[in-house]
Amino acid sequence: MAERLSAVKGMNDLLPPDSSRWEWVEATVRSLMQRYGYQSVRTPIVEPTALFVRGLGEVTDIVEKEMYSFEDRLNGDQLTLRPEGTAGVVRAMVEHSFLREGGRRLFYVGPMFRHERPQKGRYRQFHQVGVEVLGFPGPDVDAEIILLTRSLWRELGLVEGRDITLEINSLGQPDERRAHREALIRHLEAHADLLDDDARRRLHSNPLRVLDTKNPAMQAMVDAAPRLIDFLGPESMAHFDGVRRVLDAVGLAYRINPRLVRGMDYYNLTVFEWTTDKLGSQATVCGGGRYDGLIEQLGGKPSPGVGWGLGLERLLLLLETVGIEAPSAAPGAYAIVPSEVALPAVVPVLEALRAAGVAVVMHPGGAEGRGSMKSQFKKADASGARFALIFGDEELARGEVAVKPLRDAQATQALRPLADVGAWAHELRNA
Ligand code: ATP
Ligand code: MG
Repeated sequence: MAERLSAVKGMNDLLPPDSSRWEWVEATVRSLMQRYGYQSVRTPIVEPTALFVRGLGEVTDIVEKEMYSFEDRLNGDQLTLRPEGTAGVVRAMVEHSFLREGGRRLFYVGPMFRHERPQKGRYRQFHQVGVEVLGFPGPDVDAEIILLTRSLWRELGLVEGRDITLEINSLGQPDERRAHREALIRHLEAHADLLDDDARRRLHSNPLRVLDTKNPAMQAMVDAAPRLIDFLGPESMAHFDGVRRVLDAVGLAYRINPRLVRGMDYYNLTVFEWTTDKLGSQATVCGGGRYDGLIEQLGGKPSPGVGWGLGLERLLLLLETVGIEAPSAAPGAYAIVPSEVALPAVVPVLEALRAAGVAVVMHPGGAEGRGSMKSQFKKADASGARFALIFGDEELARGEVAVKPLRDAQATQALRPLADVGAWAHELRNA
């Protein structure tokens, strides 16, 4: 036998039954997006490396050490497997001049790639749902994209406050960040002995990111650092208050976390994260914020933007941890076919049922025949189907099929006419 090959480390196969749980979540996402008026986009998985270097900033975890970058062997182009979705969506909007006629509400679902140490909730290929709302400057859309996430938690059965909680902050505008940055650098320099290597490197290039440290030895020093929120002017505060007013009006509870800075350089004003205490250190399920400078930075006409990214693996782990299961994906019916001879009569009936919206699985034949009735019933049971359709010789001779309930001990078997599937198909349809 040939040697077996395995998947790349940190990249997972998604197989049944997990795949149907994923599809349930994705279908819920798509249905919600439609209700909020968000349109889907699909951009390439491979982009020019420069897009992420320019879009995310050079001194970020992603650009410094997490990107899968390579040279195209045929033409020498520098390419990268996308580590996140925002830069690609903004590139596409600019490239196709999509913002000329006003703003856009967009969403995407797809794989992202980061070279990280694989662990529970952290993989090298993972999947994100993301929204990007481009062209609208007001705090109302910041609040809207947060409300969209709350609706998603609710539709999936998660409880805010218990399973998942919201933190928000404002990063202000570049000039406010500059004033804060100077004060912050002074504070960090005064505690230079406490800084680790990462922090020392970022002290001057990106001191805000030092606040994002996970190093316990630096926590107290970082807690005492000057807070950006104290440097915000009246306009930034008004924007922040605008977001809060909408969240308050709909009763969405949140915590203001002045330390919340997010990983990418492009954020300004509103930033937020939904975190959970149920997934260990992979606590952030969804994070996002405003990025009013990004479109211009990527060559577009200056235009505001706001968005979030949500890790599907973490969301699914959370659902599993709190015991939320997807609605059953079992078929409505399982067709038991005692002999091959019956097939020409059976298959048209199954096709008519499927056309009428019934999920029906046929017991398969083969060189060894179809197996005993007993083994066919076993398969019917294992399929989770609510009914077995028994196409026995006697029933077929009378132009009928026996419909046997498999899950309801009280219900009795009934005969149904083959010629008029439309009259009884509804009995088999899943609710
Ligand atoms: P973390 O601090 O956990 O590394 P991040 O700030 O790098 O997260 P973002 O870039 O904001 O994450 O991505 C948005 C979401 O995508 C995260 O909140 C998380 O749910 C998910 N995510 C990010 N990286 C991974 C990964 N390597 N594996 C699985 N999910 C991920
Ligand atoms: Mg990360």
